[in-house]
Amino acid sequence: MRRARAADVVIAGGGLHGLSAAIHLANAKLRVVLLEKDRVGRHASSANAGGVRRLGRAIPEIPLAVAALDLWHNIENLVDDNCGFQQSSQIKVAEDLVEFAALEQRSKTLRDAGYFHEEIIDGNMLHQLLPQVAKHCVGSMVVRGDGHADPFATVKAFHSKAISLGVEVREGAPVTQITRAEGNWLVQADTTCFEAPILINAAGAWGGEIAAMMGDLIPIEAQALMLMITERIAPFLSSVVGAQGRALSFKQFDNGTVLIGGAYKGHVDIRTGRTALNMKQLAANAHAAITVFPLMRNVRVIRAWTGIEGVTKDRLPIIGPASEKGGFHLFGFSAHGFALSPLSGRIIADLICSNQNNWPTEAFSHARFTA
Ligand SMILES: Cc1cc2nc3c(=O)[nH]c(=O)nc-3n(C[C@H](O)[C@H](O)[C@H](O)COP(=O)(O)OP(=O)(O)OC[C@H]3O[C@@H](n4cnc5c(N)ncnc54)[C@H](O)[C@@H]3O)c2cc1C
Repeated sequence: MRRARAADVVIAGGGLHGLSAAIHLANAKLRVVLLEKDRVGRHASSANAGGVRRLGRAIPEIPLAVAALDLWHNIENLVDDNCGFQQSSQIKVAEDLVEFAALEQRSKTLRDAGYFHEEIIDGNMLHQLLPQVAKHCVGSMVVRGDGHADPFATVKAFHSKAISLGVEVREGAPVTQITRAEGNWLVQADTTCFEAPILINAAGAWGGEIAAMMGDLIPIEAQALMLMITERIAPFLSSVVGAQGRALSFKQFDNGTVLIGGAYKGHVDIRTGRTALNMKQLAANAHAAITVFPLMRNVRVIRAWTGIEGVTKDRLPIIGPASEKGGFHLFGFSAHGFALSPLSGRIIADLICSNQNNWPTEAFSHARFTA
């Protein structure tokens, strides 16, 4: 019988979170093998909108979002590339006074918790900031200093950096079986078996399957989230815009195209990884965009796509130790994990290398579902 290949750490899943863990662990001089069933970054990590926001985060995520934003501002230090990161405001508009009151209440809740980055502005200021926003919008919440990056460039940079640090990245290597032997993890991927004391589950929407192989039953829903992009139009927007009362994510790139999303769902078969657009939902998304930015009415959509994302019941990720010693979960980022990706690997690396949790991650324990 062939012996298993030894490593210090095996990572199941080559999205941005698996790559981030690989980079931080390789920086700590551990021998890392990363196993990816398709191609690195093939799923949510390259199909997303690239938003890097603190705005609207659940309170337990805010310290992570703040620390991740610092890393984005200096992302070259981590991966030798700027990943297309640009600083920009994130704005959530209110379309009536009820929505405006809800934004004010949210901002107060955050201030009471000691966070001051969500600023409320009235209608006059909003229309100065966004001259093309619909006349009926009455105000908004603004977070200055957030931003966005290029997901494809980010995946490429994280991948290259991991390889340059000596990480063994195996593509086309689906993890099919996980067992325990003498305190180690035995991980079967394709025709090779790997053995390591540490195993990280970074399998995104498939994280529940890997978790089950590791002995944890963690519920997660796979969603095919959609985005669409328009033809080029004259520049009118430099912020990323959402809405309080409807699902919308909206931004214009330097080349004039406009990216429109808002977590509208297509169809997904998680077993095959196949997805399909849902045209009715895309139309609803386009309607939301036109309602908030009427100038979009005659602009043509040139492309739409889906990305498969793992969404938890409370929409918070699962970050931290598994039930079995030496196992870690890092998945379920629920449609807002791109922004956290430079940091998530450091959190896991700190846990592994110094057995210390330097981050407030109690809210992300899998025990909230499995207890
Ligand atoms: C349309 C869309 C828009 C989004 N917009 C934003 C945004 O603006 N801002 C933001 O912060 N976030 C956004 N997100 C969320 C963000 O993209 C994700 O949270 C993040 O990319 C998740 O990364 P991941 O590494 O956990 O998952 P993935 O990128 O899905 O990686 C997991 C990998 O594990 C692999 N895998 C699964 N099973 C196995 C197995 N058995 N063996 C080996 N490999 C396996 C998969 O093939 C996959 O490549 C968006 C997501 C989508 C879909």
